[in-house]
Amino acid sequence: MKVPILDLKPAADELRPALDAAYRRVMDSGWLLLGHELESFEAEYAASVGVAHCIGVANGLEALQLVLMARGVGPGDEVIVPSHGYIATWLAVTHVGARPVPCEPDPLTYNLDPARLAALITPRTKVILPIHLYGQTAEMPAINALAAHHGLFVLEDAAQSHGARCHGRASGALGHAAGISFYPSKNLGALADAGAVTTDDATLADQLRHLRNYGSKVRYHNEVLGLNSRLSELQAAFLRAQLPHLAAWNARRTPLAARYLAQLAPLAAAGHLTLPHVPAWADPVWHLFVIRTARRDALQAHLAAHGVGTGIHYPIPPHLSPAYRGAGWQRGDFPLAEKFADEVLSLPIGPHHTAAQIDFVCATVSDFFKK
Ligand SMILES: *Cc1c(COP(=O)(O)O)cnc(C)c1O
Repeated sequence: MKVPILDLKPAADELRPALDAAYRRVMDSGWLLLGHELESFEAEYAASVGVAHCIGVANGLEALQLVLMARGVGPGDEVIVPSHGYIATWLAVTHVGARPVPCEPDPLTYNLDPARLAALITPRTKVILPIHLYGQTAEMPAINALAAHHGLFVLEDAAQSHGARCHGRASGALGHAAGISFYPSKNLGALADAGAVTTDDATLADQLRHLRNYGSKVRYHNEVLGLNSRLSELQAAFLRAQLPHLAAWNARRTPLAARYLAQLAPLAAAGHLTLPHVPAWADPVWHLFVIRTARRDALQAHLAAHGVGTGIHYPIPPHLSPAYRGAGWQRGDFPLAEKFADEVLSLPIGPHHTAAQIDFVCATVSDFFKK
């Protein structure tokens, strides 16, 4: 049996008629940027999250960057980011000239640990930027309470958490604004790069509509220094074809995750590996199913030899990435992020994986630890 980590083809096959119709609609309209498809998708996505505004942009990184630009975050400012996560979150901060201040994760959920936040807040702190990593939201009530106390802006990185909930409230509606990615492998993915910002803040929404379009609302009248960061009509139309399926596709991941949790529990009890932890208030969408083991590389090779694809999210913590050499961080600065980078392994999970495939992965993992 072959179990790919990710296979986008069955999703495309299931939606082929709707995707074909979306393509024809855009071609028939003769309009490729900033038109009806984008406006419609923005309204539909905002409604699905339960916020007043959605602003489509070119990708998830620029969604985050544009919000920081709109807030005037820049040189001399600090933004608190997770030490364990994807480098794009840090890059958004660095690209506006501000400094990412890493916060270590909660060792059970891997998300930014609210208990460690207070000690990192300085007079220069402007924004707290949690990631809802692997499809499960960060502990937002605690983060929001601290932010409110210090007058800080909360920007969610909701790239991996489309449809996830925290105390019943949707990811993308848990802070002042959220940056979202529709990169093809995300739970809601376009057929190329795409992203969005969600927010209830009408002023911010208006600023973002300028900033994504060279800083102009009226063509050739440039009021602020913007980017070119637009979500195309074609990608908006493809996203509209998929959005109605998001909840059902997320729901198909849940029993697969339950299968992993049940079948791998004995290995966790024996101390061979660590399983994902889901707090009672969390409602994850299983963007990734991530286990941890000290024998990660050998397990990954064993799985590969038996036809099981896996991933590592992520192998090098941002502070040790060559891109951030010169920023002054070194090994030992963020021990949890470093340990997790050495131990995490993402097992296949997606709406088109079968129970039999998950059972095969579990059996193959169990075999490995019997040796
Ligand atoms: C994918 C991702 C991003 C970046 O999104 P792009 O659309 O690829 O720019 C940012 N943060 C996290 C946590 C992501 O997973």
